Amino acid sequence: SQLIPTSAPPAALEIVGVRKDFETFSALRDVHLRVNPGEMLCFLGPSGCGKTTLLRIIAGLETQTAGQILQNGKDVSWLSPDKRDYGIVFQSYALFPNLSIAENVGYGLVNSRAKRGEIKARVDELLKLVGLPTSGAKYPSQLSGGQQQRVALARALATRPGLLLLDEPLSALDALERIRLRGEIRRLQKQVGITTIMVTHDQEEALSMADRIVVMNHGVIEQVGTPMEIYEQPATPFVADFVGKVNVLRAMALGNQRFQVGDMELQCDACDGAFEPGDAVNLYLRPEDRAVEHLREDTPNRLQAKVTKVEFLGGLCIAEVTADALHGQTLGLHFSLNQLHDLDIREGNTIDIALRANRIRAFAA
Ligand code: ATP
Repeated sequence: SQLIPTSAPPAALEIVGVRKDFETFSALRDVHLRVNPGEMLCFLGPSGCGKTTLLRIIAGLETQTAGQILQNGKDVSWLSPDKRDYGIVFQSYALFPNLSIAENVGYGLVNSRAKRGEIKARVDELLKLVGLPTSGAKYPSQLSGGQQQRVALARALATRPGLLLLDEPLSALDALERIRLRGEIRRLQKQVGITTIMVTHDQEEALSMADRIVVMNHGVIEQVGTPMEIYEQPATPFVADFVGKVNVLRAMALGNQRFQVGDMELQCDACDGAFEPGDAVNLYLRPEDRAVEHLREDTPNRLQAKVTKVEFLGGLCIAEVTADALHGQTLGLHFSLNQLHDLDIREGNTIDIALRANRIRAFAA
């Protein structure tokens, strides 16, 4: 295709200028994305941001209003779902209740030219792969939700598709099963080496499972990056806010990476010179981006903070602090339980802290 420079290997999947309108409502607007071979990508965003619509367009279950879908360089934009090369797992396990587990897994193989012995061998291999080697003769109703989702996964992989699509595969499971299956899917995906796209609205799921996260909002991609990039270098206020917890301080730019917050001057090393003195900005600070130990005379952004509330959550606790110098703006900060004890952090006490200058990010207000 003319869209791909001849030197670059084709992306496993490329989304080029995809738009989707539902009558007058635009669910997706000009979406561009390259998916690398073998990577696990998560579409992450709030309800209604368009992530499911985008997955369904990739699957051919929904028709794009404009734009193209290329798989390994081949235009599949107008192919019907059965002519495309992928396996899919939905939120509801969607197994055939009247077929055995083995028949469910082998379902896609029966129509292929494979011999019965080959199908049986492949089904056995897949059941072993998903940790259910002895469940082939059972029926879906005899399995737990997590086990059924493993079967759905095995079924999706049976025909060795080039792409695996997962539509909120864990959201119907209870918390424990969800966490167990997270690791399981991740291990399986790497073992098989299959290019995978997973839709989720659960940031923890995306952070723990993805090679790269695609953060979506209102039908557009806000940022694409590794989990750590998304968390540590959010490109927009929306991303900073949606992924992880964050404190927002109203401030005014003073220039040269310095900001006025209340009566304080805060230094912010990571903020390039994008602001003019006098600009209204919001400073974003994660709960863990505070220092309490090894503070020196010249440690920047030190303040006396008054503890207004302590939320005990176990090993990691949240203290809400405020300071006159911040003109009453509050911060929620993480402390370990040991720090809580060692530094006597409790409601009503004043503590000496520093806001980490290399961690604060600034966005125009
Ligand atoms: P959720 O997590 O709630 O599924 P999502 O990010 O997956 O959210 P989509 O299901 O892709 O969002 O929907 C994106 C937007 O498009 C929503 O506002 C939705 O109401 C709208 N939408 C989806 N399908 C249709 C349809 N068939 N007709 C009209 N509007 C639709």
